[in-house]
Amino acid sequence: MRIIDQPKVYLVAKTQLLAEGLAAYLKDIGSPDWRPDSAVSDGENLIEAAGRMCYRSWQPYDPDKPEATNPNVTDIRRGNRQYTGNVLKSGHGSILEHVCMTFICRNVSRVFTHELVRHRAGMAYSQESLRYVRLDDLSFWFPEAVKKNPRAHERFRDVVDFLEKTQKELAEIFGLKEINDFTTKKHLTSIFRRLAPIGLGTSIMVTGNLRAWRHIIAMRTSEAAEEEIRIVTGQIAQICKKEYPNIFQDMTCDESSGVWQFTYPKV
Ligand SMILES: Cc1cc2nc3c(=O)[nH]c(=O)nc-3n(C[C@H](O)[C@H](O)[C@H](O)COP(=O)(O)OP(=O)(O)OC[C@H]3O[C@@H](n4cnc5c(N)ncnc54)[C@H](O)[C@@H]3O)c2cc1C
Repeated sequence: MRIIDQPKVYLVAKTQLLAEGLAAYLKDIGSPDWRPDSAVSDGENLIEAAGRMCYRSWQPYDPDKPEATNPNVTDIRRGNRQYTGNVLKSGHGSILEHVCMTFICRNVSRVFTHELVRHRAGMAYSQESLRYVRLDDLSFWFPEAVKKNPRAHERFRDVVDFLEKTQKELAEIFGLKEINDFTTKKHLTSIFRRLAPIGLGTSIMVTGNLRAWRHIIAMRTSEAAEEEIRIVTGQIAQICKKEYPNIFQDMTCDESSGVWQFTYPKV
């Protein structure tokens, strides 16, 4: 058995703004007095551009720029933080859906992945296949209460060791080593996983848009949520705040409880 110290999250992709494409569009609509702020992330510039496109609010009204401006707009909010702050306050969160972040969650259990995949709106998943990947080396993360209780810890270890041994025994019983046909190997591997613990360590790649991540962070770092998903979504929250400080400007962490809260929970 391989003991997992802590499940870990890796940010592996995020939405990129194509400055040339946006500049070409802005030129074609009459070159409004607005451009992406180089001090702001691509994603936040893109979200601002989406909002300003909706209302033609790139700049105050200019009759010489009819496609870029709007007589209803005499003044505008300047600066990405102020602009996106107002989007959050107004609950116009659909524009946050243009920006996605992709994470690989490593050494997470199937307890965690099963809970995570319940989030459907704005999400995409690719999960390690336990039909293909043979479980001859089980990894396992022990919840805090188990770590602190020697008897429970020993019992957990015994059961995981036993289940790992069972996987190896089954492979032997079915002569898995000698089988070359991939379909048969997959079929058997899938049978054996039925005797694997739900707490075994595995991996999942997950993509979500920023509106969805806000929702998931709020639900899954809450004290009512399960221990492991709280740890993993807490790591995701930290990365979100670092990468997109303006979109997550209303999100704060209560250090004592690990709960991440939002001033505007529904955007
Ligand atoms: C503490 C806790 C305990 C839980 N206990 C259980 C349990 O005992 N049993 C159980 O089965 N599940 C349980 N869950 C899972 C929970 O019921 C949800 O399935 C899961 O959290 C996904 O959240 P969501 O429904 O907001 O979906 P998401 O896909 O994250 O959706 C985001 C939002 O989009 C909207 N939305 C999404 N899909 C639809 C739709 N089809 N129609 C209309 N609006 C939609 C909703 O406003 C929703 O809140 C628990 C979750 C938590 C956090």
